[in-house]
Amino acid sequence: MTENLNPFAIAQAQLDKAAAFLELDPDMHAFLREPLREFHFSIPVRMDDGHTQTFKAFRVQYNDARGPAKGGIRFHPDETIDTVRALSAWMTWKTAVADVPLGGGKGGVICNPRAMSAGELERLSRGYMRAVSRFIGLKQDVPAPDVNTNPQIMAWMLDEYEVLTGKHEPGVITGKPMILGGSAGRGPATAMGGMVTIREAAKLLDLPLKGATCAIQGYGNVGSFAHRLAHDLLGLKVVAVSDEFGAIYSENGLDPTVVSAHLRRAGKVGGVEGSETITNSQLLELPVDILIPAAIENQLTSANADRIQARIVAELANGPTTPDADQILTQKGIYIIPDFLCNAGGVTVSYFEMVQNTYGFYWSEELVQERLDQKMTTAFHAVHQMAVERGVETRVAAYLVAVTRVAEAVRARGWV
Ligand code: NAD
Repeated sequence: MTENLNPFAIAQAQLDKAAAFLELDPDMHAFLREPLREFHFSIPVRMDDGHTQTFKAFRVQYNDARGPAKGGIRFHPDETIDTVRALSAWMTWKTAVADVPLGGGKGGVICNPRAMSAGELERLSRGYMRAVSRFIGLKQDVPAPDVNTNPQIMAWMLDEYEVLTGKHEPGVITGKPMILGGSAGRGPATAMGGMVTIREAAKLLDLPLKGATCAIQGYGNVGSFAHRLAHDLLGLKVVAVSDEFGAIYSENGLDPTVVSAHLRRAGKVGGVEGSETITNSQLLELPVDILIPAAIENQLTSANADRIQARIVAELANGPTTPDADQILTQKGIYIIPDFLCNAGGVTVSYFEMVQNTYGFYWSEELVQERLDQKMTTAFHAVHQMAVERGVETRVAAYLVAVTRVAEAVRARGWV
């Protein structure tokens, strides 16, 4: 039978598995399988050549029992409502496992931002906000940047919202430029949160981190910060890194400053002086202590899982491991830090951004990091303890923690 790769079907299947372990009440299970609310829009945008193009767009508020919905807005030519539904479900579980008082949401626009001018992107961003403004807010639903959206796009959307409402309300959107109320420490937050989980996992496994070897797949926002922090903070020897064009290896370790400078010059990590060229597949199969997928989904599959040699797989990317690979890695005794735990640092600092916007009082980067460390450490141990208590793998344990919390809030509200 062919595997169903519809992302929402996958998200529902993952929930079904957790529901079975939890012996979740069937009415609650049925409720949690579906988004609470979704909005479909058509956004007319005046293009530079004078014609008007209509873009299809979505916002899904999957569940807001624990707090306002939270999740990014993606601009992508292949966007579908099912992708947005799945991602909004995963945001619901992520905010629950991180124990920030937020629900889960996601937005998307079907468009090709690479083929659009800055002016067209601004008009589309403002159009999206005009369409969605009456359904979102600091106390309802708070968007953020995601695939192909960035702090500048958040700034245009925030401005449009404030023009419409006639008030300053910076907390309506996170991932803003700092000049408009963005948080210190948001840039490295996802990678930083992942480092905390690696540190805690290494303690459990009695793995000394200083000099331990590491390979990182992907060198974007998450992967490049992961290299910097793995090197500077944990003292790891990062022997291999990669991007979509290929991978590099150095037995003596790669210096993040050298790799970043090379990337700025050459537009890719390949070719760093003193490094050897390898393939992305070889990178994944290196005999390292820690493997960090930080690129795209479906990288560890049934085709390569039995050749993975790492002791810890820290999933900074979303969905890097297929269900079949998951089983193989678990059987091999590899410790997996599942994605919506490992990469929850980003949404945690987004929550800090909302808190700072609410008070109009801003924290230092040190304070942001200290509080992020506390949140991630607590989340890691909640999942680990659940895994031990229930005798399940860490990914199932993360679902058990998250679904239990969301179900409790739904029940307390009397929805089910
Ligand atoms: P990005 O677009 O900034 O970087 C992606 C990197 O992956 C680039 O270096 C790209 O060249 C590389 N890449 C693409 N295809 C590849 C391939 N086949 N093999 C190797 N490398 C490849 O994205 P990002 O923000 O760094 O996000 C990376 C992952 O982390 C995604 O799965 C994203 O969903 C997840 N994530 C990001 C955040 C965040 O705060 N940015 C938060 C949570 C999860």
